[in-house]
Amino acid sequence: MLKFIRVTKKYNPDKIALDSVTFNVDSGELILITGPSGSGKTTILKLLNKEEEPTDGEIYFKEENINSLRRSRVPLHRRKIGAVFQDYKLLPELNIWENIALALSILGHPDHEIEEKVTDLLKLVDLTDKAYLFPHQLSGGEAQRISIARALSTAPELIFADEPTGNLDEDNSRIVAKLLKKINELGTTVIVTTHDPVVIKTLSGARKMTLENGELTDSKQKEDKKDKLEKSKEEKEDNQEVDEKEKKEKKKENFPKKKQSSKDEVEKKESSLNFFGLFGKKKKEEKTEDKEDKADDDDDKKNEDKKSDDEDIKTDKDEKKKEDKTEKTDSDLAEDKKGIVKVEDLDDDDKASKNTKKVKKDK
Ligand code: ADP
Ligand code: MG
Repeated sequence: MLKFIRVTKKYNPDKIALDSVTFNVDSGELILITGPSGSGKTTILKLLNKEEEPTDGEIYFKEENINSLRRSRVPLHRRKIGAVFQDYKLLPELNIWENIALALSILGHPDHEIEEKVTDLLKLVDLTDKAYLFPHQLSGGEAQRISIARALSTAPELIFADEPTGNLDEDNSRIVAKLLKKINELGTTVIVTTHDPVVIKTLSGARKMTLENGELTDSKQKEDKKDKLEKSKEEKEDNQEVDEKEKKEKKKENFPKKKQSSKDEVEKKESSLNFFGLFGKKKKEEKTEDKEDKADDDDDKKNEDKKSDDEDIKTDKDEKKKEDKTEKTDSDLAEDKKGIVKVEDLDDDDKASKNTKKVKKDK
């Protein structure tokens, strides 16, 4: 129902009363604007009822941009907002009844309607018995309750009470704060500016905004931001979870590939290291057969080539080495099932074996 959008008010170039103030009030809300003296509370009301114009920014009341409101329409606009002031602003020459009835009378409402309305409002503020007294005959608390009754006379949709208990003692502050709460509960949107702890405590359920040096902090915006942050954090965590899941899934998908590649690697190694006969049981058997064939061939060559003796010795040695390696190769195969890691281990072993062989060869 009410929007302040980056509203700045400078009374003079050096005096910033409101500094890019933004807030939003929904119909039916109870709002507490707290802030020390000089923080800009009254300026908000003055801008709202067109006593002052903003230096910058926009103000919407019931979807209407009040910056561009024609002068002739200002009285009608003001009737939609019931203002309650710290110093009551009752007309001293009129009695209580007349003070409450004045606006309706100016608007030309029929007498019986005015009578009914004023009677109801006096009941609401519990001051029926003071109807024919004059303002100076009332206590501060009573005068403020009458000013609230007067503010309600035109059935405004918004009551703006600017430091309504500024001149009251604790008991009267509590009575006035409770009255404003009751009016809100009856359906009217209520904004209260205050730095009175009694009002803050009595209206503890209200939505709070804080003004300091013309800068406004809106607890709802903070909450919204917090909610958004938490939401985005949750979303981030959810996304991370999904990412992790996807990664795991991908890993799973890739796993056989990796295994394959590890196998490929092994094959490669095998082909390059076949000479040493260092691979898996099955391979070892194949290898043994190969070796046996080779040995047969070697046997054939024995007579022809003197080197074949050396080969036999070498084959025996290789066989022993193969047996030694068989256990390790079994576990290597098991590890191989887990992935690529063991290939690196094989590399080391292979290297080691290669080196050993080299040394042997050198010998
Ligand atoms: P609050 O109601 O929180 O005490 P106000 O809105 O009345 O604060 O004032 C905010 C600031 O603007 C104060 O520093 C005040 O002195 C200054 N101010 C208010 N009205 C005028 C004005 N008509 N001319 C110059 N400065 C003003
Ligand atoms: Mg003020």
